[in-house]
Amino acid sequence: MGSETAIELDRCPFCGKAGKFAQTRVATEPSGVQIYFQVRCSRCDATVPNAGGYIAMLLSYDGAVRLYHDDREKAAAEWNRRADNGIT
Ligand SMILES: [Zn+2]
Repeated sequence: MGSETAIELDRCPFCGKAGKFAQTRVATEPSGVQIYFQVRCSRCDATVPNAGGYIAMLLSYDGAVRLYHDDREKAAAEWNRRADNGIT
């Protein structure tokens, strides 16, 4: 399996445990596969508004796996922004 770049998530603003990308739904389209996710706390399950979305990928003619939609950075920014505003 190839490895892909991990995305940095700050700690939970409520309990201080690590945030994670939680897969919520997988949809298949004629063009590819969509994986929906929500960033949430690995312990208390806290979420923040807009810290979610989906990635969509396909197998291209040249054999590469191509991401043609990617909300991960945006979702991580939402999660991290909230964490920065929290009480520390
Ligand atoms: Zn938490």
